[in-house]
Amino acid sequence: MKLKTLRDIKDLKGKRVLVRVDFNVPLNDAGEVKDDKRIAFALPTLNYLLDHNVSQIILITHLGRPKNNESVFMTDKVAQVLSKLLKQKVAKVEDWGENGLPEERMVMMENIRFHKAEKSKDEAERDVFGKQLAGLADIYVNEAFSNSHRAHASMTSIPKFIPSYAGFGLADEVEKMSQALESPEHPLVALIGGVKADKIPAIKNLLRIADRILVAGALGYNLLKLKGFDIGDSKTDDEGMEELGDMVKEILASDKVVLPADAIVADQFSADAKSKEVDTGEIRKGWMALDIGSKTRSIYKKYLKEAKTILWFGPVGVFEMEAFAVGTHEIGMTIAESGAFTIIGGGDSASAVKQLGLAEKMSLVSTGGGASLTLIEGKELPALTPLEIA
Ligand code: AMP
Repeated sequence: MKLKTLRDIKDLKGKRVLVRVDFNVPLNDAGEVKDDKRIAFALPTLNYLLDHNVSQIILITHLGRPKNNESVFMTDKVAQVLSKLLKQKVAKVEDWGENGLPEERMVMMENIRFHKAEKSKDEAERDVFGKQLAGLADIYVNEAFSNSHRAHASMTSIPKFIPSYAGFGLADEVEKMSQALESPEHPLVALIGGVKADKIPAIKNLLRIADRILVAGALGYNLLKLKGFDIGDSKTDDEGMEELGDMVKEILASDKVVLPADAIVADQFSADAKSKEVDTGEIRKGWMALDIGSKTRSIYKKYLKEAKTILWFGPVGVFEMEAFAVGTHEIGMTIAESGAFTIIGGGDSASAVKQLGLAEKMSLVSTGGGASLTLIEGKELPALTPLEIA
């Protein structure tokens, strides 16, 4: 997949540019920005536009999961953080330009999800809003990869009305994901963990492109259960697995798929639970698998060391509890030192990698779990289609 980027625009001078960013930052109890990484991520794109003398940058983001336009989710605070990072004024607009825009070079709209048309199921309603937003600018830039699997007005409607381009962060992420999925250096080894069955469609598509798929986390033990093994009281996503029954059957029948050989089991889901290591097949009632054991670690590490491309989505154990973080830590270190082209999925595996200080050693730590998983499923991301080079 090749996208049009900012560098493809001949003349930016004097242009008004609408940039859809993802400033959906974590907030603390007082409603202040806890971590500004998502804001800092957009700086190369914003600085490029400023350096190329655009007349105005109009920023759109979502923030949190507002239900009734709660004030804690207003975008004033992200505008302030951006203003500090860029060392220039960012004017906050209370609406989405209905009453005109201030003259400042940088303006930040109100939380786009406060507007009911943003996520409307009715495409025509989204398009009316998208057209209104597009009317404020000459050019649209998408710098929100993490939201690109969603057909929202600010993602898929605006590009129907004005020329649209990929921001640098988004372009880099899509390029690396495409490299891993479309022309990977082999062996391509995927490691899939976590709990939810929502990764099953991705595993199904990986059967086609990966050489080996290592499954861990609760998901690994869930698949062992479906193969007929006793997994005691281990966590499962029975409903999700049942819904995807046909895909699960295909996955279980593939010799590319490797399941855990052992587990660290605990007598309760707690940081100070009693724990021990047992082989797969020996997980009894009253015990639950909360991490992979030493045999699985060494088998998985062997595959990862031989890999030339690695995709890692989902922690291999309950890494939030120190007693069950060994697998995720050892596997994370192995991936970081593998020398392979390494892609880490968003969400929990990305936080594990950051917690371990390994992010810099990976080729890509994805900014969007859902969006990157959709790409691995082999599906189109609706917000990327209008940015593609025809
Ligand atoms: P997901 O959102 O499906 O990627 O799941 C991520 C969560 O999986 C993390 O919060 C982990 O603590 C959890 N997890 C990983 N392995 C296990 C396990 N064996 N049992 C229960 N939870 C697990």
